[in-house]
Amino acid sequence: MTTTVSKTEIKQAVEHRRNFAIISHPDAGKTTLTEKLLLYGGAIHEAGAVKARRAQRHAVSDWMELEQQRGISITSTVLQFLYRDYWINLLDTPGHQDFSEDTYRTLAAADNAVMLEDAAKGLEPQTRKLFEVCRMRDMPIFTFFNKLDRPGREPLELLDEIEQELGLMTYAVNWPVGMGDRFKGVFDRRQRQFHLFERSAHGSKEARDTVIDLGDPQIEQLIGPELYYQFKEELEVLDEVGPELDLDAVHAGQMTPVFFGSAMTNFGVELFLEAFLDYALKPNPRESTLGPVPPTREDFSGFVFKLQANMDPRHRDRVAFIRVCSGKFEKDMVVSHARTGKQVRLSHPQKLFGQGRESLDDAYPGDVIGLNNPGVFAIGDTIYQGEKLEYEGIPFFSPEMFAYLKNPNPSKFKQFRKGVAELREEGAVQIMYSADESRRDPILAAVGQLQFEVVQFRLQQEYNVETLLEMLPYSVARWVGGGWDALKQASRLFNTVTVKDSYGRPVLLFKNEWNCQQVESEHPKLKLSSTAPVV
Ligand code: GDP
Repeated sequence: MTTTVSKTEIKQAVEHRRNFAIISHPDAGKTTLTEKLLLYGGAIHEAGAVKARRAQRHAVSDWMELEQQRGISITSTVLQFLYRDYWINLLDTPGHQDFSEDTYRTLAAADNAVMLEDAAKGLEPQTRKLFEVCRMRDMPIFTFFNKLDRPGREPLELLDEIEQELGLMTYAVNWPVGMGDRFKGVFDRRQRQFHLFERSAHGSKEARDTVIDLGDPQIEQLIGPELYYQFKEELEVLDEVGPELDLDAVHAGQMTPVFFGSAMTNFGVELFLEAFLDYALKPNPRESTLGPVPPTREDFSGFVFKLQANMDPRHRDRVAFIRVCSGKFEKDMVVSHARTGKQVRLSHPQKLFGQGRESLDDAYPGDVIGLNNPGVFAIGDTIYQGEKLEYEGIPFFSPEMFAYLKNPNPSKFKQFRKGVAELREEGAVQIMYSADESRRDPILAAVGQLQFEVVQFRLQQEYNVETLLEMLPYSVARWVGGGWDALKQASRLFNTVTVKDSYGRPVLLFKNEWNCQQVESEHPKLKLSSTAPVV
C-alpha cells in the first residue's frame, strides 16, 4: 500500500516544523528551561511532567528507581508543542545519571541544538562532549546563557570562550544589562528594545515583559547611569566590531546566535523562542544511498535512532523511535525495511508526550514516532516506501568506561550469551573482546555508568543471569583506520592494549588522553578515530 499524499501538504508541514535537542551539563537548567518552553506551547499549562521527572531524579538510586528512570525516559523522549503556527519537537537528551549512548544518538535525529550554559560556569565537560557530536554533523547551535539573576561571568568573556574553545563565531541576539542582584534585563537587538527584568514575575505562567524602546530616556533612569553607560559601550562594540548575523553560517554550524536569560524566572525564554523559530533550520534533506533525500519526497522514509526496552519483565515490549525524514507517516502503513528487505506494517504508533502515551495517526518530517518493536528494528535501520534507500548509519560513539562482564555460573552460559548479544544489538552498550582471546569474557564499553547498571539489571531480570563487573582502567578508545593491516605495519605501541569490537575491528584502549596523544605522535601514519566507522 502506498499512500497518496500531495507534495503541497508535506511542504506545508515541513515549513511549520522545527526540531531541536538541548545540550547542557547537569544543573545548567535544562529541566527548568524545558518546562518554561512548554508553557508557551499552550499544549500544557502546568509543566508537571517535567517536574515529576526532577523530583524523581533527586531520589536515591536503587533498582526500583532505575526502573522508574527508564519509564520516565520513555515518556520524555520527545515533547511536541505548538507555538504560533509551528509544531516544535523537543528531543530529550537524558541528563547526568542517565547519560548514555542514547544521548548521542538522539542528537542524530535532531536538526538543531540548543546549547544551554550556566552563565556563572560557562562551558562544562558534558556540554563540550555533546557539542563534538553536533559538530560531526555541522548542526546549527543556539546558545542560551542561563541564571542571569545570579552573579555570573562577564558576557563578553563567555562569548570569547565559545569562539576560542569551540571555534564557533557568536552573534548576540540579546544582551544582558547587569547580573545577579543588579540584573536589569536584556536588550533585544532584533527589535532594538529593552526588556525589563522584574523579579516578582516568577513565572509559572506566560509572563509579559515590560518593554522599552532604546531611544526612551526612561531606560537610563530604570537601570541607573553606571550600568547604562557600560551597556551603551558594550552595545557599540557589538554593533560596530562584532560580525553580522549570517544565517547561512548559523545553518552550517559555524555561527551561534546567543541569548541571555533566566529560565527559572521565565525571563528571556519567549525572546529566545521567537528568534529560534525565525533562525532555526527546518527539517532538511538527509544523506542516503540515493543522495540527499528532501523531506518533501512524497514517499515516506525514516530511520531508527533509539530503542527502549520496557523494564517490566512481564511486558517485554521494546519501543523503536523513528525520525520521520520524508513523506507522511500514516498509521498501519506498510513499509520496506532496508536491512532485511522485509515488509513491515507500522501499527500501534505512539506519540510520546509528557507522562502519557498518545496514539498517533500521522506524522511528518521532523517528527518522531515510537513503534512497538517486536525485535525487527536495530539502531540505524531505515524504513521507506517507494524506491529503495538507506540513510547513513549512526556512528558508534567513543566509550569512556570499560569493564569485563563475568558470568560466574557456567550452567547459565547460554542465557548469558544470548542476553549479551541481544542487548548489544539493541544498542544498550558496546561489546568488545580481548584481541588475543586470552580471555573470553565480553568487555562492556560505555559512555556512562548507567549503561553498566542497565545491562546487569536486564540480564538478571530478563535472562535470569547474575553477573559480575570487573572495571578496567581505561578511559579512551580509538578505532584504527585501515584495520589490522595498518596496525601490523606499525612498530610497537606503548601504554595501550588492543581489543576488538563486535565486528572484529581493532580498537586501542588507553588509560588517558595523554597516552593516546603519545601514540599518535610516535606513529603519525596510524589513523586513529574516536568513533567507529559506520557499518
Ligand atoms: P538540569 O540538571 O540542567 O535539568 O537543571 P535544573 O533545571 O534541574 O536546574 C538546576 C538547578 O538550577 C535547580 O535548582 C533550578 O531551580 C536552578 N535554576 C534553573 N534555572 C535557573 C535560573 O534561571 N536562575 C536560578 N537562580 N536558578 C536556576
